[in-house]
Amino acid sequence: MTHIYNDPDTFKSDVLTGFAAAHPRYVERVPDASGFIRAGGPLAGKVSLVIGGGSGHYPSYNGVVGPGFADGAVLGDIFASPSAEQVYRIARAAHGGAGVVLAFGNYAGDRLNFGVAADRLRAEGVDVRVVWVTDDVASAPAGAEEDRRGIAGTFTVYKMAGAAAEEGRDLDEVERLMRYANAVTYSFGVAFDGCTLPGARDALFHVKDGQVDFGLGIHGEPGISTTDWIPAARLADQLVDRVLAERPASADGRAAVLLNGLGSTKYEELYVLWSEVEPRLRAAGVDLIDPEVGELVTSLDMAGCSLTVTWLDDELEPLWRAPADTPAYRRGQAVAGGLFTERAVSAGATEEGTHEIASDASRRHATIAQSLVATLAATVEEHKERLGEIDAVAGDGDHGIGMSRGSRAAVEAAEAAVSAGGGVRSVLEAAGAAFGDRAGGTSGILWGLLLETVGEGLGNQEPVTLDGLAAAVRAGATRVQTFGHAELGDKTMLDALCPFADALEQGAEVALPLAKAWRAAAEACTRAAEATAPMVPKVGRARPLADRSIGTPDPGAVSLALIVTAIGEQLDQTCQNLEESS
Ligand code: ADP
Ligand code: MG
Repeated sequence: MTHIYNDPDTFKSDVLTGFAAAHPRYVERVPDASGFIRAGGPLAGKVSLVIGGGSGHYPSYNGVVGPGFADGAVLGDIFASPSAEQVYRIARAAHGGAGVVLAFGNYAGDRLNFGVAADRLRAEGVDVRVVWVTDDVASAPAGAEEDRRGIAGTFTVYKMAGAAAEEGRDLDEVERLMRYANAVTYSFGVAFDGCTLPGARDALFHVKDGQVDFGLGIHGEPGISTTDWIPAARLADQLVDRVLAERPASADGRAAVLLNGLGSTKYEELYVLWSEVEPRLRAAGVDLIDPEVGELVTSLDMAGCSLTVTWLDDELEPLWRAPADTPAYRRGQAVAGGLFTERAVSAGATEEGTHEIASDASRRHATIAQSLVATLAATVEEHKERLGEIDAVAGDGDHGIGMSRGSRAAVEAAEAAVSAGGGVRSVLEAAGAAFGDRAGGTSGILWGLLLETVGEGLGNQEPVTLDGLAAAVRAGATRVQTFGHAELGDKTMLDALCPFADALEQGAEVALPLAKAWRAAAEACTRAAEATAPMVPKVGRARPLADRSIGTPDPGAVSLALIVTAIGEQLDQTCQNLEESS
């Protein structure tokens, strides 16, 4: 349980406020952004390491900002990727002129959002490298390392990258060392019970009483195998065997080892386990270099732990041993006042937005668009819990809350755009930008893009027609596909979105009335969403647990179908009213 909170919705920002107040010696809050840069930063001439991901993993990521470690940390809502906008703002503030490495654990939502932020920074002339960590051996087999999730190994990899940057290595070198460290990092985890989101009545998932679940993710993604309780010695066998199984041929035995607690497993328990793990590692010829036992990448109040090994050599060992001084992690002599002392001028966020004057026709339709955005939000709210449950089957259970955060922000933005005299395009673009920024996660950025692209297609001048709408929705579907790299049949929202776009186009071809065409398309979308149930997910968070997902439809496809169905009902009403009043 999370016992201390005000409003679950503001939990993350309340954490950030408290953290900033507690650690002014280490961090500075970036104005209007969800995260921090190092106090006194950005440092002129230094490569900046910006790390991030969803909240709920403290001390990852804000807890390790400081000399010898990270230059900036960006935090999304609990377990949800930060939005591209937030990543951009923190990275921009952290850039000291020598380039930025953006780093995160391998999750679809983070890859999309950090990727978009990187493109935007590059367009502004910042040299950016993007590195994601793939240490969780339970999430994909050897040979498919690229598909593995990032868990506690993020800590060792970031630590070494931070040390390299502090030593004055250039951007190419920091990137190279970081990728290398990731390639020799392996983790395997175990859970005894699930974790509970602030304000939730029950855990995201439970491990059955008296049982042990192996290979869990740090977001409550269920594990890969379950056994009855076993003593610490047997647990150590399992963890050590799994992690050492992939020891690279080149490893000479030196290793950074981390026994990481996930949140509610006590330090005493970790030390009991360490008393069993340490001799097994030594017996297997591992030369333990400054091992760590403690909470470094947690998962709210999850009970469990993981074992990480990063194989060291002459290049990585000094980086692992190097000093660091951060709120949650200190090693050796403080290095403040090291190589980099001078503060760089950090750039403020750029202003953008379209200032095109909308036609009267488009402004009239913009109020309809605004009310449809409100319908979208009401639909998400109504089905929020169920969407979370579907996502929890093989994903992380946050689809309902993510969509809810995004759509509420979209409603506000759409209202503001209408008040400012915006046309359809301005309203949908504003709604999309707010959706992507606040929802976080994979579906956040994809829905943000979808709304923005539909808005772009409809424009601020022409009244909305079925032909225009069908073309705009098609453009949105294409954008989601090119951007998310999913194919039809991969079990994503695309499997419902493309049939929806197809059906709208067919309706336009035979010149159906708009509302009628939309409703027919919504029906096709609903059937297509249901038809995702037997599919096997090939991308996204559900992929590592593909088999569990069989029999359950894709959450993103289901939410899309519910939303377009509700919008269809409202369009029917709206069009009738329009006809009566004209
Ligand atoms: P997260 O996966 O970050 O937790 P959500 O739970 O909100 O985000 O959304 C999950 C949904 O996102 C999936 O059900 C799927 O429909 C959609 N999705 C995931 N990856 C992709 C992708 N590459 N392309 C299209 N849709 C995707
Ligand atoms: Mg999810």
